[in-house]
Amino acid sequence: MGVPFLNLRAEYESLKPEIDRAVHDVLESGYFVLGKKVEEFEAEFARYIGVKYAVGVNSGTSALYLALRALKIGPGDEVITQANTFVATCEAIAMTGATPRLVDVDHRSRNMDTARIREAITSKSKALIPVHLYGLPADMEGIADLAREAGLFVIEDAAQAHGAECTVSGLRLRVGGIGDLGAFSFYPSKNLGCYGEGGAVVTRDEELFRRLIMLRDHGQRGKHAHVMIGGNYRMSAFQGAVLGVKLKILDRFNRKRAELAEAYRDILSRTGAVLPETSEGTTHVYHLYVVEVDGRDRLKELLARENIGTGIHYPSPVHLCPAFDYLGYRQGDFPVSEALSRRILSLPMYPQLSVQDVQCVSQKIAGYLEQAI
Ligand SMILES: *Cc1c(COP(=O)(O)O)cnc(C)c1O
Repeated sequence: MGVPFLNLRAEYESLKPEIDRAVHDVLESGYFVLGKKVEEFEAEFARYIGVKYAVGVNSGTSALYLALRALKIGPGDEVITQANTFVATCEAIAMTGATPRLVDVDHRSRNMDTARIREAITSKSKALIPVHLYGLPADMEGIADLAREAGLFVIEDAAQAHGAECTVSGLRLRVGGIGDLGAFSFYPSKNLGCYGEGGAVVTRDEELFRRLIMLRDHGQRGKHAHVMIGGNYRMSAFQGAVLGVKLKILDRFNRKRAELAEAYRDILSRTGAVLPETSEGTTHVYHLYVVEVDGRDRLKELLARENIGTGIHYPSPVHLCPAFDYLGYRQGDFPVSEALSRRILSLPMYPQLSVQDVQCVSQKIAGYLEQAI
């Protein structure tokens, strides 16, 4: 029996009538960019995250870039993020002309190591971008304290953590709505995914919201009043329509992911594999189920032979990607991220999987790990 790494076709089948109706509405409306479907989704998403404003855009990368531009970050500025993330976090900083400064991650949470941030702060630092990697909230309490003390903005990269919650100052909050701005991706494989490209920036701040609206659409304050250099980052009406349907089932899908994570843990905790961290007061939404094992490449290959799909997120930390050579980092600079990149393996994790699928994958892995010992 095979288990693919992802099955978006099965997801569509399970939602077909609602999705078809929403897409058909857009076709009939004759309005294909922004418009009512996008506005409805923006209002619902802002309410869901617990902020005042959400601005729908055309990707998560654009969301990060526009969040930085809304803060007027550009050439001469530095922005701090982590070495273990998807390259887009760092790319968005570079796209503004600012310089990315990296910090290592904590070994257990695999998120930004708060203790390391201080070393990266200089007189040019403007903002911090913690990533809620794999669906686990970053240490927002510690990060918010440090940012306040150092006078830095916080942009959350919440592209992998729609619906995840953490506790800050005794309040339980949804990630993305905690910092000055939050950036989301709705790439199809994300916990909240559209059927194309999409993203959103969320904020509580009215002035930032106004700048985002302008930046998204050619820097216009009103029709043909171009008051800043923006661009075309508008969300498609089709994606707004699909997201409106899928937001309603996000919590249910996240609960299913948590149930599957438990099923993995039941079996894999008896092996030598290091499993995702869970902690009191935070909800992990398991965008990815990432384990650490010895002999990762061999295990990946053995699973592939059984038609079990796996992934590596990410095989190279950002500082070792050739695109970022110009930053001057080298091998050894971020040892935790580097060690993780050699040991991590992402196992199948999506709401259409059954507990039985997960048990079967886990048993195979347990068998292989036992043989290697
Ligand atoms: C997916 C992702 C992005 C980029 O989103 P796109 O919609 O693919 O542009 C940014 N950061 C992280 C952590 C991501 O996982």
